[in-house]
Amino acid sequence: MTAATPPWTTAAVALGSNLADPAAQVRGAFAELAALPDTRLVARSRLYRTRAVGPPQPDYVNAAALLQTRLDPDTLFDALLAIEAAHGRTRGERWGPRTLDLDLLVYGDAVIDTPRLTVPHPQLACRAFVLVPLAEVAAGLEV
Ligand code: ADP
Ligand code: MG
Repeated sequence: MTAATPPWTTAAVALGSNLADPAAQVRGAFAELAALPDTRLVARSRLYRTRAVGPPQPDYVNAAALLQTRLDPDTLFDALLAIEAAHGRTRGERWGPRTLDLDLLVYGDAVIDTPRLTVPHPQLACRAFVLVPLAEVAAGLEV
């Protein structure tokens, strides 16, 4: 007997960058999301320039991506962390500047609460720089 093929699930990802040519970081990340295995990039938002939250730092470029994926949430999250790492992401002070931040906003209707992964993303509803790009791609979201 063969294992059942996992179903396609719709997921949304927030992209953010405020270091080392942020617009290029975000455009590159879209391409890398599109190239993930068992994953399709269904929609990408425009790029938004936003004021930073947290310590003084350069403005951000924010965007959102809508994916169809067969990766399970942990595997998808590992892939997001790998893309961040490939963009030289380091973690310093909280809310500090970053070359690339990829947050998993929603994964189908999954509710996940593990030490490293909370879905839906807990800050989703209170950040305009997440919600406005998400609204552009959200027509494909299942609720
Ligand atoms: P930020 O909250 O500014 O995105 P980080 O990218 O450093 O900061 O993430 C902080 C922590 O949030 C990480 O340790 C990560 O494991 C955790 N985390 C929990 N849920 C999520 C999620 N849905 N998407 C991204 N990171 C998450
Ligand atoms: Mg993050």
